[in-house]
Amino acid sequence: MIPGARLVLLGRQGAGKGTQCVRLSRHLVIPHISTGDMLRAAVREGTPLGVMAKAVIDAGGLVGDDIMIGLVSERLEQDDARVRGYILDGFPRTVGQAISLDEVAAKRPLDMVVDLVVPRELVLDRLSARRVCRDCGANYQVSGIEPAQWSCENCGGDVVQRDDDTPDAINRRLDLYETQTQPLIDYYGQSGRLVQIDGVGSPDEVFDRLTKGVEQRR
Ligand code: ADP
Repeated sequence: MIPGARLVLLGRQGAGKGTQCVRLSRHLVIPHISTGDMLRAAVREGTPLGVMAKAVIDAGGLVGDDIMIGLVSERLEQDDARVRGYILDGFPRTVGQAISLDEVAAKRPLDMVVDLVVPRELVLDRLSARRVCRDCGANYQVSGIEPAQWSCENCGGDVVQRDDDTPDAINRRLDLYETQTQPLIDYYGQSGRLVQIDGVGSPDEVFDRLTKGVEQRR
């Protein structure tokens, strides 16, 4: 166990980042902070942030840096993250967000940034077949005939397709990943904080590589 680790997990949409973050957060016993989950919760609650974010998310766009930075800095000030550290999933997504994160985390800097590497050609099919639990966010893949009523194995919630997992929104998100998020690889690489992990393989194989990479580094 690594007490108080502060990690960022980067990776293309559909690279299995969310699932690996959930596992790693259990393994290291540190909070998993997903900005996608935070925004989707705001959408469900119908808050002003949620109403604004829904249109952006459904179109496959990015919510503004100022809003995202405000949301994340508030979350990082909560006791669990201050004491135990965190795994950030989906943030930062732009160089502007990364620079602000370094400022916000100046007193307790990031330990490591992991890039889960999966080529674009491999993620397209996975994203189109992805279904998620509306309540707990568990991920599933459609194979064969999709059940008319699909309940989550973990919590019994409805398993549905995300509104932003349409072909247009998927392509837009993947394009934005290349133009906005990929430059973070250089940003973190230059400061010696980056570890790249091959994300191709079964979830167990990838998790094994991930934990070895994280533990070796500490
Ligand atoms: P994905 O599967 O596309 O990686 P996420 O669940 O991480 O999706 O995020 C869903 C959507 O929420 C993104 O497409 C984007 O619109 C918005 N979002 C999440 N995190 C950020 C962020 N750091 N900056 C801007 N927008 C974000």
